[in-house]
Amino acid sequence: MTAAPPLDLITAPYVATDLPGARSMEYLRRQQRTESNARSYPRRLPIAVQDGLGSYLRDVDGNVFIDFLAGAGVLSLGHNHPELVRVMIDQLGRLTHGLDFPTPAKDAFVAAQLSMLPPRLRSRMRLHFCGPTGANAVDAAVKLCKTATGRGDVVTFQGGFHGSTHAAMAMTGLVAQKRPVANGMPGVHFLPYSYCGRCPMGLSPSSCAINCVAYLERTLTDPNGGIPLPAAVVVELVQGEGGVIPAHPDFVRRLRALTAELDIPLVVDEVQTGCGRTGTWFAFERYGIEPDVIVASKALSGVGVPVALIMYDERLDTWAPGAHTGTFRGNQLAFATGTEAIRIIRRDDVLGNVTRRGAQIAGRLAEIARHPWVREVRGVGLMWGVELADPANGTPAAELARAVQTRALRRGLILELGGRSDCVVRMLPPLNVTAAVVDLACDILVETIVESAPAGER
Ligand code: PMP
Repeated sequence: MTAAPPLDLITAPYVATDLPGARSMEYLRRQQRTESNARSYPRRLPIAVQDGLGSYLRDVDGNVFIDFLAGAGVLSLGHNHPELVRVMIDQLGRLTHGLDFPTPAKDAFVAAQLSMLPPRLRSRMRLHFCGPTGANAVDAAVKLCKTATGRGDVVTFQGGFHGSTHAAMAMTGLVAQKRPVANGMPGVHFLPYSYCGRCPMGLSPSSCAINCVAYLERTLTDPNGGIPLPAAVVVELVQGEGGVIPAHPDFVRRLRALTAELDIPLVVDEVQTGCGRTGTWFAFERYGIEPDVIVASKALSGVGVPVALIMYDERLDTWAPGAHTGTFRGNQLAFATGTEAIRIIRRDDVLGNVTRRGAQIAGRLAEIARHPWVREVRGVGLMWGVELADPANGTPAAELARAVQTRALRRGLILELGGRSDCVVRMLPPLNVTAAVVDLACDILVETIVESAPAGER
């Protein structure tokens, strides 16, 4: 067995052991003994991770994978981008933790973030740094809107995912995660999302007139609709964990118009879609709308250093001092790398790369879209999903999706699952991924779907 070349010379995945390899197995066993039963990724991707560079990740057995999970969409410039590492090391010697004091690193980060907003929003958005997770920022957004409106209800959407804290989970569709936990945040109402592949209204996109948003309009304006005027409508513009479902443009525009008319703050959860993932800095730009609150986290630092924030219209700034505190709201490493990430993204036209690589993936996956077990191929920018379903009855093909994930891993490609019953195979590459790596990954994905689908249905 020859060893893989160093990570900086690698040009293709390299898997030389069974998975998990012997050393990974030791780590996984120890983890099983010491960590919670709630651990998740290593159950389906059974490896212990050693190091990474760019789009590649190496396990402790020396196997090298193309990483199309990218830290759950966090690593926008891939693993250990050398310029980000340099900036981080430089910052490390100065200051790492700054509570919510102003610092040069934070000042530059705030300016960089504001510079990425559409001009009309720049002057009127306020920033609040949250505890460094998406869920904490979602929580903050809802608290802010409740405070500003004096209302207590929240409208959110079926299939959505907003995090695993009590409040964020209450706004998340995943019933299995919520079922064992009694007394979640009250006052959350789920309305249908524009999931045209499996229309919640049972209609077909060609003739539906976006009935899901018409239903929402009627519900919120009907004096007998059952839902008091909410403090906020919280929406993902592309449902990520929900299975890569881009919202229909009319759904989003009418939702924006209705919430503006009824004076309901519109919160866009851009934790996954933000920082360039869809080809614009934020996904709301694609829809030509202006939200009242933007929630951002995952890719803000570009290199996986945790940070989360909300940006909101200053008219909502009704918070008293200390209304949303948190010890870890001043991660200077994240501020320094986040500012540098924006510089690199501009310099290297990374958003252009997202659009070009997205088009490449669309082209490459067009061939598999006709496969009988593929119900739909969906994506925007560098967020892609292949929904698998039984051609006989449309049942989500969860087993097949798992088989594809496992087989792809053995071929050297890390993929994530999502959607109903985890039947959507997802690709979430770094935003600076090369055309060559995209081609390799698409080859593996297409081939594993064909190889894994039940015989006789090809
Ligand atoms: N919102 C969205 C849209 C997400 O995708 C996620 C995480 N996948 C979250 C919120 C929660 O973020 P975190 O895991 O950092 O709490």
